[in-house]
Amino acid sequence: MNIFSRLREYFLNNVSSNRFKFTLIIYAITFVHTSYVLLFAVLGVLPLFIFNIGSVTLYIICSNITKYGYEKDFFKVFYAIYIEVALHCLAATIFVGWRLGFSYYMFGLIPFCYYICVTMMEIKHRYLLGTALGFIAYITFIVCRLISLIFGSVYNLDISPVSEFLIYVYNTTSNFLFLFVVILIFITDMQTTTDKLHIQNAKLDTMASIDPLTGLYNRRSMQAFLDDALASDETFSMVMCDIDNFKKVNDTYGHDFGDVVLKEIAAIIKQLIGTTGNVCRWGGEEILILSNDSMDNTCHIAENIRQTVENHVFSLRETSIHCTLTLGVATHKKGASIDETITHADGRLYYGKQNGKNRVITPYDTA
Ligand code: GH3
Ligand code: MG
Ligand code: MG
Repeated sequence: MNIFSRLREYFLNNVSSNRFKFTLIIYAITFVHTSYVLLFAVLGVLPLFIFNIGSVTLYIICSNITKYGYEKDFFKVFYAIYIEVALHCLAATIFVGWRLGFSYYMFGLIPFCYYICVTMMEIKHRYLLGTALGFIAYITFIVCRLISLIFGSVYNLDISPVSEFLIYVYNTTSNFLFLFVVILIFITDMQTTTDKLHIQNAKLDTMASIDPLTGLYNRRSMQAFLDDALASDETFSMVMCDIDNFKKVNDTYGHDFGDVVLKEIAAIIKQLIGTTGNVCRWGGEEILILSNDSMDNTCHIAENIRQTVENHVFSLRETSIHCTLTLGVATHKKGASIDETITHADGRLYYGKQNGKNRVITPYDTA
C-alpha cells in the first residue's frame, strides 16, 4: 500500500471522530500562526508578533484538550478558535491594513461554525446558533473594511508590491485550504455515516427476512416472492415439504438434535434448488419451495431432495440417525390464487403422509 492509500485509509477511519477533526484543524491553525510570528518579527510589527505568540500558546493548550481532554470541552476550543480568529482579523487590519488579506479568514469561519454547531451541539437552536455565528463573522469582516477605510493602519509597512502580493497570496491560500479541509471533512464524514447506515439497513433487512435457525427465507419474505411469481407470466410450481415423524426425533434425541436435522435438511433443499427457485421455512418443520422450473423438472428435483435426505446421516455427538421427508408438488394454474396452489401442494403432502410417508406426490399421482 502506498503512502497516499495509507493516508486515505487513515483519514476515512478517523473522519467521524471529533477528536481527530479538531486536532487536524488546530494543527493547521497553529501552523499558520507560527508562520505569522515569523512574518511579524521580520516586518517589525511588535503588537501582532506578541498577539501571534499568544495565539500559538492558546492553540498548544487547545491541541492538548483535543488530544487528551474530554469531548465536552471541545466546545470551549471551538469558541476559542472563533474568538481568536475574529480578534486576529481585527488586530491585523488595525495594525497593518486591509490589503494583506488577513480579514478573509472570516469567510472560512462560516462553514466551520455551521459544521460544529449542527453536527456536534445537542441543543435546540443549533442551526440558529450556526447562522448567528456565521453572520457575526461576516459583520466582523465588514467592520474590518470600515476601520481600514476610516482610520487606515497603525503601521505603514515599507515593503515592495511583490512582498505585499506574496503575503496576500499566502493568506488567501491558507484560507482556501482551511475551507477545503473543513468541507472535505464534512462531506466525507457525511458519506461514511450514510454508507454505514446502508450496511446496517441491509443487515436489518436480512435479519427481518431470514429464519435464524435454518438460514432460509421466513414466511413473510417468501410472500414477496410469491406475489412476484403471481404477477409474472411465467409458470411456476410449489413444493410443500414436511419431516416425517419429527416429533419422535425430538422426543427421542432431544430438541437440539431436532434442530440439527431441520438445519441440515434446509441446507440440502437450498443446495438442490440452487437458483431455480426460493425456499422458505413455512412453519415449524414445514418447508415451502417456490420453483420457477417446469413441472417435470420440479418433480424431478423434489424426488432428488427426498432421496438425498433419505440417504443423509444426521449426527450430533455420538448419535447418528436417518430421517425422511414427504413432499407435495403443485403447479400454479393461471387465474388461481397463491393460496389455492398452496392448498393443492398441502393436500398432496397430506396424501403422502397418509400413504406411507417418505414420498413425493405430484399432480401425476393424484390427477
Ligand atoms: P408427520 O410425519 O406426520 O409429519 O409427524 P410429525 O411428528 O413430524 O408431526 P408434525 O409434523 O406435526 O410435527 C411437528 C413437530 O415439529 C412438533 C415440534 O415439536 C417440531 N418442531 C417444530 N419446529 C421445531 C424446531 O424449530 N426445532 C425442533 N427441534 N423441533 C421443531
Ligand atoms: Mg412432520
Ligand atoms: Mg409438520
